[in-house]
Amino acid sequence: MSKLPKPENLASSIDHRPPRKPWMDTKPEFRPGTYSYPAKPKVLENMGFPFPREWSPTDEDWKLPENWQEIVHNAFKDRLSKYRSLKVFMDICVRCGACADKCHYFIGSGDPKNMPVLRAELLRSIYRNDFTTFGKLLGRFGGARKLTEDVIKEWFYYFYQCTECRRCSLFCPYGIDTAEITMMGRELLHELGLSINWVMEPISNCFHVGNHLGIPPHTFKDIIDFMCDDIEEITGIRIEVPLNKKGAEVLFVTPSGDYFADPGTYTFMGYLMLFHEIGLDYTMSTYASEGGNFGLFNSYEAMKRLNAKIYAEAKRLGVKWILGGECGHMWRVVHQYMDTLNGPADFLEVPRNPITGTVFHNARSTKMVHVVEFTSDLIKHGALNLDPSRNDHLIVTHHDSCNPSRALGLFEEPRYILRHVCNHFYDMPDQTIREQTFCCGSGAGLNNDEFMEMRMRGGMPRAQAVKYVHKKYGVNTLTCICAIDRAALPTLMDYWVPEVQVAGIHELVANALVMRGEKEREVNLRGEPLPGKEG
Ligand code: SF4
Ligand code: SF4
Repeated sequence: MSKLPKPENLASSIDHRPPRKPWMDTKPEFRPGTYSYPAKPKVLENMGFPFPREWSPTDEDWKLPENWQEIVHNAFKDRLSKYRSLKVFMDICVRCGACADKCHYFIGSGDPKNMPVLRAELLRSIYRNDFTTFGKLLGRFGGARKLTEDVIKEWFYYFYQCTECRRCSLFCPYGIDTAEITMMGRELLHELGLSINWVMEPISNCFHVGNHLGIPPHTFKDIIDFMCDDIEEITGIRIEVPLNKKGAEVLFVTPSGDYFADPGTYTFMGYLMLFHEIGLDYTMSTYASEGGNFGLFNSYEAMKRLNAKIYAEAKRLGVKWILGGECGHMWRVVHQYMDTLNGPADFLEVPRNPITGTVFHNARSTKMVHVVEFTSDLIKHGALNLDPSRNDHLIVTHHDSCNPSRALGLFEEPRYILRHVCNHFYDMPDQTIREQTFCCGSGAGLNNDEFMEMRMRGGMPRAQAVKYVHKKYGVNTLTCICAIDRAALPTLMDYWVPEVQVAGIHELVANALVMRGEKEREVNLRGEPLPGKEG
């Protein structure tokens, strides 16, 4: 891992003054800490993806295939004909600049090519040159340029410095979605075998084993058994977790980050305790043991292949509907793309909460409900016995994870739950939450160690808003409903606001949940004394 500057040095190094040279005349500097490592050849081979080879971004020669320009041109043409949005986004930008200062990477780096408008120009300039008469005639004067190896290098650098968070799109008067442009840029690079390992290895693991981390079925079961041991020690209640149970009503799918590392594991324990308490007839699958979908960060083809597994398992197990855990991009895939990727899932039923009778009409097409929708419905119907004072040592704020909030609209449900499971909740400033939420800086496959400096830069606006409520209200806990956030935010907090810990919502739910037959609880899910039990 590259050496990370101290926070004060990093902050003082940001320079937002306009650059001296025109943007077409500058090249990216592949400095440690600012780029992600390429996909290993074996990983690409495993998936049958094009041009596996050893290469490094710092090499002069990226070993591109002989006809690489033709490949990119044809792939671009194909996407322009398939996706009308791409064609529109290429044509309608008026370069008003409303999006320019809205990207967390621009705010944290000062690099003008991290302005969404300029990030899109990296692709648009080639579009103009290759596909418009105007661009062909006017060339550089008309914002067009030829596709060169330097352009490819620039694409790789900047399309892997975008977390596809869509914050910029909120401010664009034309609704241009730069995340979609980044996705297309990454697809075109993928056609040349240029992708990053932190995206491709999880895709390969998920496709072949069942989850991004490559955890095999027997280990998955062992992990769950260990968690059930911990739950028994804390509550005195032994929980059985159904795996691959045919004929269950609900298939529960959650990201592997939730059962692999803290603090996600506490969230996972929270789901298990909740489902046990309400007597939910559910099963997990050892084959669809991943809710996340890193295909979103590579190509439609990869996204489709991973998404299909969840629905294939739902069919094989004969469930009625699917419940999803606290995941971020799973919901972007399910709600924005699932229907045209693999849907509609007509063989499933419209989800209905068996405890409250609520029918989730919003999920009538995908047949998949987010667990915060499910739990807030339980609370609203008085189905849970909750003691929020068990979380009295926590002063909480909530990070709206980009995908389930901006893409899916889950703004109220997490806050509704939090207000019932803890007594001290404070929102961050309005312009940093809900639709306008700031990204953790590590999404879209960029949560890797080698990219740490850019992660800390990109996460800085989020961290500053947390710091604000920490100073004003004494906030010590940041909740989120996304597994990438639960993995990325602790590092970000340690760097910028070390007094604040990170938790999933269902960790707090389970701490507050008074279960039938439980022993008097002394500690929370982290094994820390509950308020009043410190002695
Ligand atoms: S999608 Fe997010 S990361 Fe990408 S350019 Fe827009 S604001 Fe920046
Ligand atoms: S806000 Fe929209 S139209 Fe204006 S520069 Fe940005 S992408 Fe272009």
